[in-house]
Amino acid sequence: MTYQRSSALFTEAQRYIPGGVNSPVRAFKSVGGVPVFMKSANGAYLTDEDDRTYVDYINSWGPAILGHTHPAVLEAIQKQAEKGFSFGTPTELETEIAKFIVENVPNIDQIRMVSSGTEACMSSIRLARGYTRRDKIIKFEGCYHGHSDSFLIKAGSGAATFGNPNSPGVTQGTAKDTLLARYNDIEQVQDLFRHNTGEIAAVIIEPVAGNMGCVLPEHHFLQKLRELCDENGALLIFDEVMTGFRLAFGGAQELFGVQADLVTYGKVIGGGLPVGAFAGRNEIMDHLAPKGAVYQAGTLSGNPLAMRAGLETLKLIKEDANFFQKINKTTETLDFEIGKILNEKGIQHRINRKGSMMSVFFHISAVSDFDQAQQANHSLFNNFFHQLLKNGIYLPPSGYETWFISAAITETEMDKTLDAVRKFEYS
Ligand SMILES: *Cc1c(COP(=O)(O)O)cnc(C)c1O
Repeated sequence: MTYQRSSALFTEAQRYIPGGVNSPVRAFKSVGGVPVFMKSANGAYLTDEDDRTYVDYINSWGPAILGHTHPAVLEAIQKQAEKGFSFGTPTELETEIAKFIVENVPNIDQIRMVSSGTEACMSSIRLARGYTRRDKIIKFEGCYHGHSDSFLIKAGSGAATFGNPNSPGVTQGTAKDTLLARYNDIEQVQDLFRHNTGEIAAVIIEPVAGNMGCVLPEHHFLQKLRELCDENGALLIFDEVMTGFRLAFGGAQELFGVQADLVTYGKVIGGGLPVGAFAGRNEIMDHLAPKGAVYQAGTLSGNPLAMRAGLETLKLIKEDANFFQKINKTTETLDFEIGKILNEKGIQHRINRKGSMMSVFFHISAVSDFDQAQQANHSLFNNFFHQLLKNGIYLPPSGYETWFISAAITETEMDKTLDAVRKFEYS
């Protein structure tokens, strides 16, 4: 069976869209081959342009946590669409979703809606800088906070130095204000604070990393970051674009019992429509325009269709007392059973998992930072990806990505998945 239509569509797309895609990971550059063009999605499944179906473990990179095209979310969007798509004025709906989130997430008083995770993270560091009147930030290697300039930074040479641009177009001037530390390395963060006394506005982190594959914070790491930030008058920013409303309703703050000063959201919060948000205590959020001096804005921010999709999704999650227990259990079973099959085949691997996020590293030892994630056997992952794809299982097309398990995955889909893993031939 061939990917006939996908191939033709990709060729056509490359004429008009840079690289044929609107976000790089979709191009399959990491795993090789032609990206599969999808035409529809329902529940646990994606359907491609050649009419093949796949059990979906990307779920739009997280938003489709209920499964695709959930009937209640669909109806909410349809009803809203009849009333208008966008007004450019305040709406009651925006307060309704803000109130719902503030009341159900620990440690936040106010929330500002934007249209992507990138915007949320970018705005959160501007606010942190404006609030602390300091310029520098600390981020961790392998963590992704969207594509704004301050985050497209890689480690410089030598320890405890400032970062270098990780993309042409990012200036040295911007790079010098972003300091890099190794994930789970608290001493390095301590050193950075010591060498930059009174200059660090914020530490930003994915409290469970998902953008170098799934990598977990070691015991008390987040708590120690909290303490270092307090000692040094810096803000702690949790980038919960992946983890928010997924690891727990209150995200990593709730799950680990560590409070952040600012929290960013995206993905699940929009239920599949383009939404991001950032939130915090009054004392900090009051510095945002129009109340405060830190400027931030958006023509489509708080868009009614997006707010409806988000609110309906969040309510469905909240109403189901066993929601997280169920998706976590599914993920645990997949972890356990896939591990068993790979062991039987004698394939060395590590599976990292937290809640409904997991990834398989073909590596002999634990993966707890970016260096270790890079040492994994990615060509073997690419082989694994393609063999599963052929058997109707859609994994993220890179060994540096997390699988997102949705509530639509049942035993039927798990069985299909495990069958495909059993057929995996290690060559
Ligand atoms: C996806 C992601 C972002 C960026 O969100 P976009 O909506 O793609 O701009 C930021 N942070 C994390 C942790 C993410 O996973």
